[in-house]
Amino acid sequence: MNISITKTTCPKEKPDSSTLGFGKVFTDHMFMMDYSKEKGWYDARIIPFGNLSLHPASTVLHYGSEIFEGLKAYRRADGKVQLFRPMENIRRMNNSAERLCLPQMPEEMMLEALTTLVKSEEAWTPSAPGTSLYLRPYLFGNDESLGVHAVHNATFVIIASPVGSYYKEGINPVKIMIEDEDVRAVRGGTGYAKCGGNYAASNRAGERAAQKGYSQVLWLDGVERKYIEEVGAMNVMFKINGEIITPALTGSILPGITRKSCIEVLKKEGYNVSERLISIDELSKAMADGTLEEAWGCGTAAVVSPIGELCYKDHKYTVNGGNIGALTQHLYDTLTGIQCGKIEDTFGWTYLIK
Ligand SMILES: *Cc1c(COP(=O)(O)O)cnc(C)c1O
Repeated sequence: MNISITKTTCPKEKPDSSTLGFGKVFTDHMFMMDYSKEKGWYDARIIPFGNLSLHPASTVLHYGSEIFEGLKAYRRADGKVQLFRPMENIRRMNNSAERLCLPQMPEEMMLEALTTLVKSEEAWTPSAPGTSLYLRPYLFGNDESLGVHAVHNATFVIIASPVGSYYKEGINPVKIMIEDEDVRAVRGGTGYAKCGGNYAASNRAGERAAQKGYSQVLWLDGVERKYIEEVGAMNVMFKINGEIITPALTGSILPGITRKSCIEVLKKEGYNVSERLISIDELSKAMADGTLEEAWGCGTAAVVSPIGELCYKDHKYTVNGGNIGALTQHLYDTLTGIQCGKIEDTFGWTYLIK
């Protein structure tokens, strides 16, 4: 692929890594490429970071044709930069594109786009513990007409943002509200696709939970509101009476790469992991009789996020005394260790930027 590079004439000052939040600061350049039905993918370019110009009738603004990915580049102790399982993100992006009738992209092309941007912005990859360069590829329908149909024109962009440690004051377990009204996704819908629309639909429940002092909601399935699906924008795992359980991927759940990695780490270490349906009744019972030993969310941003309290229909339950559990901590240490190169990667998950 031929990628043209236009350098910025006014490079920004790089932020101090102690001040980094999540997705607030962006690097000097971004990757862009266009698609049309006639030409296929064309005009791959790295250009100065800046505003996009869109036709007011652009598909994405009216019909929500948008998908995205999220992955990180990590600075290792030897100064080199590596990605974590980028092919998983690339394949998932193509699966999301298929669901939303957006154009798919050859895997090698997307990998080259990612690695070329990471190389270009390498100096923005912070090195302090827990920090990384967050990469946000996204793709949207960009037809300049109001007709409703599969898109003929699309735009693919990758932006990069140095992000701080998710846990500034140590890992703090979060309080979660079980949502029994709004649902995030239904089978047959777009739950398994990483699309912006899923997020738009989940904001109301998130707001309501926040007003009551909870940081995320636990989603139940969209048909019976009976089976547990995800927590906020993360997958969820439980340890109940020694059994490690995560909801099976039924179509309305996003197939997280952190979820998959947790399962693979646990299996390699000899644990059984049940991917199955888990109902709110089963969880309530385990909360009430004290057999819920640990609960945690998992996703790229936080890696692992312990749940310290769950609230269901105004009943509050504390998990593991409100502290992070041993298994949750172990998964956090193992995954972050592999990601930043402190722990040997026996899985072949890391991808060195050369
Ligand atoms: C991105 C995402 C996840 C986590 O996926 P990772 O690949 O682990 O980052 C989980 N649920 C939803 C809804 C997501 O959008």
